Amino acid sequence: MSVAATANALRAGDRVALARAITLVESTRPDHRVEAESLIADLLPHTGGAIRIGISGAPGVGKSTLIEALGHHIAGLGLRLAVLAVDPSSSHSGGSILGDKTRMGALARDERVFIRPSPAGRTLGGVARRTREAMVVCEGWGADVVIIETVGVGQSETAVAGMVDLFVLLVSPGGGDELQGVKRGIMEMADVVVVTKADGDLAAAAGRAVSEYASALGLMHPPVDGVAAVTLSVSAREGRGIGALWTQIEDRHAQLVSSGALARRRGQQARDWMWSEVREGLLSRAEEGEAAETARRLDAAVASGALLPAAAAREILAGLRSGA
Ligand code: GDP
Repeated sequence: MSVAATANALRAGDRVALARAITLVESTRPDHRVEAESLIADLLPHTGGAIRIGISGAPGVGKSTLIEALGHHIAGLGLRLAVLAVDPSSSHSGGSILGDKTRMGALARDERVFIRPSPAGRTLGGVARRTREAMVVCEGWGADVVIIETVGVGQSETAVAGMVDLFVLLVSPGGGDELQGVKRGIMEMADVVVVTKADGDLAAAAGRAVSEYASALGLMHPPVDGVAAVTLSVSAREGRGIGALWTQIEDRHAQLVSSGALARRRGQQARDWMWSEVREGLLSRAEEGEAAETARRLDAAVASGALLPAAAAREILAGLRSGA
């Protein structure tokens, strides 16, 4: 299908075209890259209207259960939703956090919802690029809300926080000791902290955890762009707190829009996107053809101590400049 036909099918709300377009942006084949860039260029001017939400949390905290419940709520409001995943670990295991077809199965059957497992990739930068482009494609399809899910390990939160409007961190109802385990840097990125599983035996603990996280956030997290972070609890299993969570997300988003903070944030994100393309582009050039051979030789020389890392890097970069 031509780029123009794909763009038209997307704009008509075709989910099959959406899946195909995302496969295209995920491809590393040079001819696919050319098509993907032309598709993105075609779609980009018509996108940007969606609420972009990052959702993160440790494995088992309740991400997929919550996204399923929140997704039904969002679709029930008549909105179109796309869920994408960033899972750097999938590049090693070959698995994926959304790869299991049974996850969010009921939600995925809703016509207003599109769910995409995480792309495998060698570098987080590569995965992040494809996720950014997939987000543009989802918005081209007419998504009103895009959720990007990531596992709470490693650098993926930072990458995701750098491409969304609001970052939601899920924590388990343990509080106290748990709080120590949540990395400060991740807490600082959170616009909304959600204590999960606030039901049954865990309800009381979840209530205490909300106070503990709220005071910890108050200490470390000054309001960003005039909007303070918020902590709340939900039970995705019982459907409690889901509507309140959505209201918080919408309110915060509206505040960011009206204060102009969202436009600034997205401007910065566009610049970050450009520089990460530069980094990825340089890296892939260093791994091709003659440059790759030079790089391998220098790599070995650095490992054996025969050459200083900075000198080797200079030589690699000089080789790229000459177009090798
Ligand atoms: P993920 O790994 O973060 O995606 O977590 P899952 O959504 O797969 O949930 C992990 C476990 O927590 C599962 O056994 C769920 O049934 C359970 N769980 C998820 N949400 C809730 C909840 O709201 N209440 C309770 N009691 N358990 C939950």
